[in-house]
Amino acid sequence: MSKCPRCNQSVKLEALVCPYCKNPLKAFGHAGIPLYQATDESFLCDRCFYLEDDSCNYPQRPYAKSCTMFHDKEKPLVEEPISSPARGFISEIKFWLGQHQGLSIILILILISVLLTII
Ligand code: SF4
Ligand SMILES: [Zn+2]
Repeated sequence: MSKCPRCNQSVKLEALVCPYCKNPLKAFGHAGIPLYQATDESFLCDRCFYLEDDSCNYPQRPYAKSCTMFHDKEKPLVEEPISSPARGFISEIKFWLGQHQGLSIILILILISVLLTII
């Protein structure tokens, strides 16, 4: 659930329009295109990353009240992937084995030979 920026009612995430006030919640009637909207008297551009880095060339800049490209300048442009140390170590081993397949086969054969000798 999310909140309608106009009437503040709870609406489904995939809703194209608010069922209470008919405010459009997605751009171009497409569920995959979010439509960001200012919720108060300020403009979206005031908080937008693309205004700050001067890369926006939309005609509504700097007075956009709704925009499909808005990105909050307080949030990183690309989310850092969450990685656990254990998964990272296993991934490193898989990558190393993939890069050194010949050596990996020899090491596995040596390990099997040692195990057979011990048993
Ligand atoms: S991308 Fe949209 S919100 Fe951001 S500066 Fe351009 S017009 Fe404004
Ligand atoms: Zn609404």
